[in-house]
Amino acid sequence: MTWLCIRHPEPKKNRPRILPVFLPYHGCPGRCIYCAQHLQTGAGRPSLSDVYQNLNDNLQHRAKHGHKDMGIAFFGGTFTALPQSWQNNFLDLAMQFRKKGLINHVRCSTRPDRITPNHLEWLKSKGLDMVELGVQSFDHEVLHRSRRGYSGGAARAACVQVMQSGLELGIQLMPGLPAATLDSWEKDLLQTCALKANAVRIYPCVVLHGTSLAEAFHRQEFVPWDFELTLRAVSLALLSLWKANIPVIRIGLAPQQDLSAAIEAGPWHPALGQMAKSQALYTHIRKAMRAMSGPAAVCQDWHIFIPRRFVAEFWGHRKNMALVWQRAGFPRNRVHAWEKSFFWVASQESAPNALTLSAALCNETNSTFDVRESQSSSRLLSRGASNDSVSPKIPKAIRFGHDWLPKDHQGNS
Ligand code: SF4
Repeated sequence: MTWLCIRHPEPKKNRPRILPVFLPYHGCPGRCIYCAQHLQTGAGRPSLSDVYQNLNDNLQHRAKHGHKDMGIAFFGGTFTALPQSWQNNFLDLAMQFRKKGLINHVRCSTRPDRITPNHLEWLKSKGLDMVELGVQSFDHEVLHRSRRGYSGGAARAACVQVMQSGLELGIQLMPGLPAATLDSWEKDLLQTCALKANAVRIYPCVVLHGTSLAEAFHRQEFVPWDFELTLRAVSLALLSLWKANIPVIRIGLAPQQDLSAAIEAGPWHPALGQMAKSQALYTHIRKAMRAMSGPAAVCQDWHIFIPRRFVAEFWGHRKNMALVWQRAGFPRNRVHAWEKSFFWVASQESAPNALTLSAALCNETNSTFDVRESQSSSRLLSRGASNDSVSPKIPKAIRFGHDWLPKDHQGNS
């Protein structure tokens, strides 16, 4: 009897309700080549006074209606380069409502070249919890060609400064910028994992109307990544970041009202995140099966049990993964939803009634599974319950590059 128990690889994340406060271009030293904040955020170009007044009204309203434990996020500009009096005003306002229990987390986004240790210390003393750095890439050539104005070393140093200040670090990455390749993207991810960011956002580069990048695109000097490459890059990123216990809190630009009309080219899709997660989950499960059974792990007569809350993710956007799973040996009649929190793969001989399986697992896991899970970052245990019952196998690091998906997913098999 052979079976495999697999945890979903995504780290648990707190999902506080976030009140986004958009400050389009405020504090920015110039207009970055890809940026169209007024379109991305759908917020137009309000003055700081208007933003402040709206935020104040919004917070008053929510406090009056008993809302609690929300986060505030100052996005869309360079918060740390606003006039300090405005930084002070916004943070004081947040603190005022923190004392009332409405707010429990405050974050801002900024550029890596607009922070200093003293400033971070001051922001922390004013109640800021997290700084999200719009790093975009750590690669020198990518940063240079994208005219970001700082080096990869400066971006790394800024990340370290944030962490050393005691603030949480968020890193925003942008695959597909000029000169970016899968190779440079892999290095960006390795850097991000090494820095142990608290959260990551991934915004694949798209060509937005009115930007310098759009002009370069029309002059045929810039070609955005296609959707397939982007999906592949983001799936890889998820596996890599999840393995490093880093939550990915956003994938792709949010579908604001004016956004789709403003996209001239590039890999934007409202379900990119969902599709990338489905592919990452597929890769994770298949790698786990390979770790157990070797490369011939296409199991014609196996069954898989999946936690009910992951059913949609398993089948993918509009069930686009159904054929992929079928090719891997899991047609729909061999896929079963259940109430457990883990995935379970078993051969037909042992193919189970879910209750029997879960009872068996509970017996085993009470003594070892849970303990082992809490002691190790591993999310997977596999066992053979007969002769080859051995110590758990830990999957090797998810490798980048060329075999990111199993062969059976590469199209024409
Ligand atoms: S990318 Fe960031 S720094 Fe650049 S213009 Fe947009 S908001 Fe400002």
